[in-house]
Amino acid sequence: MNQSAHQAHAYIRPQFVDPRTVVEVKKLVTHYGAREILHGIDLEIREGEVMVIMGGSGSGKSTLLNTLLGLLHPTSGSVRILGQDLHSISDVQRTKLRQKMGVAFQGGALFSSLSVLENIMLPLREHTRLDVSTMRIMARLKMQVVNLDGFENLMPAELSGGMIKRAAFARAIVMDPRVLFCDEPSAGLDPVVASAIDDLILSLRDAMGMSIVVVTHELESAFRIADRICVLDKGNILLVGTVDEVRATDNERIQNLLNRRTEEKILDPDQYLRNLTAAND
Ligand code: ADP
Ligand code: MG
Repeated sequence: MNQSAHQAHAYIRPQFVDPRTVVEVKKLVTHYGAREILHGIDLEIREGEVMVIMGGSGSGKSTLLNTLLGLLHPTSGSVRILGQDLHSISDVQRTKLRQKMGVAFQGGALFSSLSVLENIMLPLREHTRLDVSTMRIMARLKMQVVNLDGFENLMPAELSGGMIKRAAFARAIVMDPRVLFCDEPSAGLDPVVASAIDDLILSLRDAMGMSIVVVTHELESAFRIADRICVLDKGNILLVGTVDEVRATDNERIQNLLNRRTEEKILDPDQYLRNLTAAND
C-alpha cells in the first residue's frame, strides 16, 4: 500500500480518531433465522487499500458484505464506517453515511429502461439538488474514468458484460465515495475483460485514494488487486494478510481452499461441455 497516500489523507481528513481505518468490524455475529452464519468477525479496512474478501461458495462473503452495507442487521457486534456505527445511527444519519459508500453490485443492477448516462446520474438525482446539466457533466466525467465515454446514450441491453460492470462502477463512484464495495467484479467475464476490471479497481485506488472492498472467489483476481486479503471459511476469518502472506501460509485449510479452487476450475461444467463438443468436431 502507498504510504504517502496515507499521509496525504491523514492530513486532509483529521476529523477521524484513526484516519487510516475506514471500516471497523468488531465481534460481528449474524443469523439467518436460527442459523448462525458469521461467528464473530473482527476486521479493519484502512484508508486507500484494496481489501479482498475471499472464500469458497457459502463461506459468508455476501452475508458479510450485506452487513457492511447496512442491508442486513447483525445479531451482535458492530460495524463502524468512517467512525460511525452503521447499525445504531438514525436513518437520516445512515442515509448521509451511505452517500460516502459506493456499491457496484454483482450483476450491475442497472435500470433497463434508462440509458447508461441516466443510470449513472441516478445517485446525483437522489441525493443532490444539482441542475441536470451539472449532473450530466459529473456523470460524463465518471464515464471517462471507467473508459465508457461515447456510450452515454446506449441502453443497458446494448452493453457487453464488461461494459455493464464499468457502468456499475461509474454509478458507484459518481458521488465520490470514500469507500467502494464491489461484489464479484470479475465473475462471468472472460479473462481479458476481467483483468481490465482489475486494472480499473487499482486505478480508482491510486487516482482517487479510494478504499475498496472487493468480494470475490476468483483467486487470480484477488492476488492481482489485493493490498490485503481476508480469507473467510464457514463464517470465520482464517487469515487477514498480504498476498505474500496468504500464499506463504502453512494453514492447511487455507491451502486446501486455494487448491480446491483449481479442482473446481477443472470440473467447471461449461468447460466440460466445451471439451465434449470440441472432441466431437
Ligand atoms: P457466499 O457469498 O460466500 O457464497 P453467503 O453469505 O451467501 O456465502 O452464505 C453463507 C451461508 O448463509 C450459506 O450457508 C447460505 O446457505 C446461507 N444463506 C445465505 N443467504 C441466506 C438467506 N437469505 N437465508 C438463509 N440462509 C442464507
Ligand atoms: Mg455470495
